[in-house]
Parts: sequence; structure tokens; C-alpha cells
Amino acid sequence: ATPKDCPADVETLGRSTWTLLHSIAATYPTTPTTTEQSDIKNFMRLFAKLYPCWVCAEDFQKYIEKEKIRTQSRDEFGNWLCEAHNEVNKKLGKPTFDCSKWQERWRTGWKDGRCD
Ligand code: FAD
Repeated sequence: ATPKDCPADVETLGRSTWTLLHSIAATYPTTPTTTEQSDIKNFMRLFAKLYPCWVCAEDFQKYIEKEKIRTQSRDEFGNWLCEAHNEVNKKLGKPTFDCSKWQERWRTGWKDGRCD
């Protein structure tokens, strides 16, 4: 872990960033307008260019080119993002996440009530 008030290392930056990205998916509209869809696509493309871990950014840009960003609904975007995160998990040898549970993890809290 990064000591208090020090520059973020790749892990700390990554955890904070995934929190932001999945939280954006959690508040993305269930039925987005065409403008909302193009906004999120532009945001993700710029994010992938500017992410301040250059190897991470390069691989993420390649992923976005290969796996087109899906934005037709909240659940579609949330699943796309979950799959993108799983790609990074695989690369790092971390367990993959069950994407059918992304809304429980990032939007509603778990069905067992542990987040209530
Ligand atoms: P994280 O992977 O940060 O995940 C945080 C939490 O998200 C987990 O505890 C879990 O509850 C939940 N979660 C896990 N998987 C999913 C999923 N698929 N969908 C939804 N929720 C999930 N690090 C590198 O070393 N090399 C890289 O190339 C690299 N590329 C990255 C690219 C991007 C775009 C980002 C945002 C981060 C990248 N990272 C990279 C950082 C890396 O992904 C992790 O954030 C970091 O290693 C810390 O991992 P963690 O185990 O704390 O959990």
C-alpha cells in the first residue's frame, strides 16, 4: 500500500480508477440518448490515452480497438467494463470477476445485505 499522502503507485491508482469507472457505469442511464452514448465513448477513449500508467494505457487502448465499447444501456456498458477489467485481471494473474454480479458490487450492494 502507498504510505499516506505519497504519490499513487500502480496498484493504488488502479484501485481508485476502477472504483471511479465502475461507479460511472453504475450511474450511467438505463436508456442513454445518442449524446450520452457518444459522451461515454469519448470519455473512455480519452481516458485510455491519458491514464497515467503508460503500459496500462497502451494495452487498454488496444483493448478498446479490439472490443468496441458497448453503450446502449447501463447493463451493457457495465458488462463491457467488467470484461475489460477481467482482461487486466487475467494479464496480472488475478482471479476474474463474475460479470453477472457487477451491479451488486458497484450499484445496489450485495443481496446478502452486507453493504446495508
Ligand atoms: P482491482 O483490480 O483494482 O479491483 C478493485 C475491485 O474491483 C476488486 O476488489 C473487486 O471487488 C472489483 N473487481 C475486480 N474485477 C472486477 C471486474 N472485472 N468487474 C467489476 N469489478 C471488479 N496494473 C498493472 O500492473 N499492469 C497493467 O497493465 C494495468 N492496467 C490497468 C489498466 C486500467 C484501465 C486500470 C484502471 C488499471 C490497470 N492496472 C494495471 C491496475 C490493476 O488493474 C489493479 O487496479 C491493481 O493491480 C490493484 O488490484 P486489486 O487487486 O486491488 O483490485
